[in-house]
Amino acid sequence: MDFVCVCNNCGKTIEREFHYCPWCGKENVEPSDASVLENVFAQLEVKQANDRNSRIKKIESKIAEIEKGLNELGISN
Ligand SMILES: [Zn+2]
Repeated sequence: MDFVCVCNNCGKTIEREFHYCPWCGKENVEPSDASVLENVFAQLEVKQANDRNSRIKKIESKIAEIEKGLNELGISN
């Protein structure tokens, strides 16, 4: 997996093409010829990943609510 590197701030593995660590937000890759546009895209990627995670968490808690409701009604199983 040579397209993965380790964040030098939080130590988690990140994709090499990420210019910012998705875990801690720290800029992790040396900006070698990186255009401003690339940085913007990298930040967008991180933001989208974060949005996705919070959306998944919301859905998971909704499912838990529904399951709880079904259990209370004695419908499930
Ligand atoms: Zn990090």
